[in-house]
Amino acid sequence: MSSPAARPSQAIPMARPSISQREIDLVTQVLRSDVLALGSFATRFEAAVAGAAQRAHAVACSSGTAGLHLSVRALGLREGDEVITTPFSFVASTNCLLYERVVPRFVDIEEDSLGLDPALADAAASSRTRAILPVHVFGRPCRIQAIAGVAAGRGWRMVEDACEGLGSSVNGRPLGSFGDLATFAFYPNKQITTGEGGVVVTDDPELDGLVRSLRNQGRDADGTWLRHVRLGYNYRLDEMSAALGVAQMERRAELQAGRARVASAYERALGDIEWIRLPQAGEGEVVDWFVYVIRLDRAVSRDRVMQRLAERGVPSRPYFSPLHLQPFLASEFGFRPGDFPVAERVAASTLALPFSSRHTEAEVGRVADALREAVGRR
Ligand SMILES: *Cc1c(COP(=O)(O)O)cnc(C)c1O
Repeated sequence: MSSPAARPSQAIPMARPSISQREIDLVTQVLRSDVLALGSFATRFEAAVAGAAQRAHAVACSSGTAGLHLSVRALGLREGDEVITTPFSFVASTNCLLYERVVPRFVDIEEDSLGLDPALADAAASSRTRAILPVHVFGRPCRIQAIAGVAAGRGWRMVEDACEGLGSSVNGRPLGSFGDLATFAFYPNKQITTGEGGVVVTDDPELDGLVRSLRNQGRDADGTWLRHVRLGYNYRLDEMSAALGVAQMERRAELQAGRARVASAYERALGDIEWIRLPQAGEGEVVDWFVYVIRLDRAVSRDRVMQRLAERGVPSRPYFSPLHLQPFLASEFGFRPGDFPVAERVAASTLALPFSSRHTEAEVGRVADALREAVGRR
């Protein structure tokens, strides 16, 4: 075995949730009660997320994907309708449309915000377009105000995928406060976690009632147990997860400060390297990064860098791999390389580095050293 001083052998995790005694206490409180589902922790969690997003209503559900699907159903989108969305995303933002045989109309992204380009969205309008589904990528806002303007001008509804956006804002408005409906997600690598889980927010009491009913097997608002007024799902969030979420929301400022600390450690460690572009907030934006994604110069082979980092115990991920080139979507809709050149160019050069509120400065230093070694340049 090599000595730890000569070669730090412990692998750095890609992400780490932060679980304190408070989370353990609240989850234990649930486990010692008789209420493991449909209890008061879900209600408390919903109130906390509604407050953070400055929305009137919040509905906790079993995942971010479930929340997006509920949003599509609540707006009554159906077979043959078109929804304009982005190919530079996690697959859930398109799958939620496919579940209902709604056609995703991809438009290319902007190189800076990494969100869909509002001008291209407007140009992609057809007589079948019913809605737009923008995604905030990595915690940075897409150009949501311009996108909302296009949607309003065209009479489209808007489903805002804020699954990576909790804690970020633009011109003082939190992400998740823009769409007719917006969804947050709480998988363990997100800004806060419930294990699995998500929340749909809205200001419209009618949409709130619909999402609640759809989440709960299509029961009526009064919840009468064996009365089902529409086709619904079991997309409820259990009380253990909701209690975890309540504790995480209480600690949100602390967790956000931790991520800001790690992000600035990366800025100090990598800021002088000319073949790396660091993630940056745009004007008027406050960004609570969900993942820390750098862009490599075109002359640097991203895949070779990933492999060499891995050999040095440093994990990294290509983030994202464009949706239109996923085998399933490409074969279903006939997409080809070159269809969305900006998304493809960005996707070929991005690299997510290990990141969370808990990574240490020493780990950031190891990542930076490994990156310089991997590229063989200083
Ligand atoms: C995480 C995420 C989701 C939802 O993911 P779940 O794992 O279902 O909670 C949706 N869209 C984007 C962009 C995401 O990053």
